[in-house]
Amino acid sequence: MTLPIREEKPREIIKPIFVTKPNLPPLEKVMPYLEAIWQSKVLTNNGPFHQQFEEALKRYLQVPYTSLVANGTLALVIALQALRITGEVITTPFSFVATAHALRWNDITPVFCDIEEKTFTIDPNKIEALITPRTTAILAVHVYGYPCQTDAIQAIADTYGLRVIYDAAHAFGVRRNGKNILNEGDLSILSFHATKLFTTFEGGAIVCQDEKLKKRIDYLRNFGFANEVTVVAPGINAKMNEFQSIIGLLSLDIVEEEIQRRKHIAHLYRTRLQDIRGVKLPEELEDVEYNYAYFPIFIDEEEFGVSRDEVYTALKEQHIFPRRYFYPLISNFPSYRTLPSAQRENLPIANRVADQVLCLPMYGALEEEEVEKICYILWKAISS
Ligand SMILES: *Cc1c(COP(=O)(O)O)cnc(C)c1O
Repeated sequence: MTLPIREEKPREIIKPIFVTKPNLPPLEKVMPYLEAIWQSKVLTNNGPFHQQFEEALKRYLQVPYTSLVANGTLALVIALQALRITGEVITTPFSFVATAHALRWNDITPVFCDIEEKTFTIDPNKIEALITPRTTAILAVHVYGYPCQTDAIQAIADTYGLRVIYDAAHAFGVRRNGKNILNEGDLSILSFHATKLFTTFEGGAIVCQDEKLKKRIDYLRNFGFANEVTVVAPGINAKMNEFQSIIGLLSLDIVEEEIQRRKHIAHLYRTRLQDIRGVKLPEELEDVEYNYAYFPIFIDEEEFGVSRDEVYTALKEQHIFPRRYFYPLISNFPSYRTLPSAQRENLPIANRVADQVLCLPMYGALEEEEVEKICYILWKAISS
């Protein structure tokens, strides 16, 4: 039986544009490493590729110590355990929810502090008022890879005897005055999740400045084993495996080029968007080498009459999928909103920014034509 002929015009195939696209090493480069794994049958537990990647990452980032882990969330959970953080920790509500969840998994109360207008990171001027006798640390986030005010944060920590942990999940490769920002504070954590600038499918790392601390982190990521028969702490299984390690190792060769392509795209976006009334772009600081992990814009409904969500919907209708990172604020989720520090009146800037933000598609393989199309739809949505 023959099928009836359909006279309909074939529908135009529309390629969706997502907020990001992972930058992967060429498959033919991965294959020999996979063959080596199949030969050796070493799949995990500090195997040869794990050791190689841990060392190469340390050299690439120019940091004293790195510990690879299974993901960024476990990196946070372990970082808090390694420093024996308890009680209350002052943190930002303008982050991915894992930042606060990691505190809760350690029985620590998050105390939310408002953010700065300019960098969207924790506002050091508002930290001191939140310190109580139970406060033990500050957990700050380099949101979008924009560096926190690390000197001001450290000065407060030194005065009150607090630890400082940086959630640097967005900040792979970011430098300020030539220095990698991962060297700030007691610890920094990285995430290598599929949506991050540098990815190992899932994965993460902890960067620290002290050999003893690295040792403790390494025990904690492997159930607390110090050797075959000694368990020194109730650790967890947060080991990175050999497959993730080879992806990481090979991705170190391609990340710089990805950053450069993104820089070009960011420039293109800026050129197109800077004159659109109603769109605010973040300021770029002179002394920072950015990684262009995200491209956030801010849409002020009060001033221009068009809401962020209207723009978001207009783009979605054209198969473009920006993301509202970070909306809702962590402090507005049911698990956190009853905390005194989570109340809206205590966090005016964070709430406003969360209501205005839209992260546009940003990845090296994004074509110039696609950027033009996104900017055009944006302009139409705002000026209609
Ligand atoms: C992605 C992310 C995490 C969590 O990392 P995973 O690797 O997904 O567990 C933590 N904090 C921030 C700010 C993130 O963006």
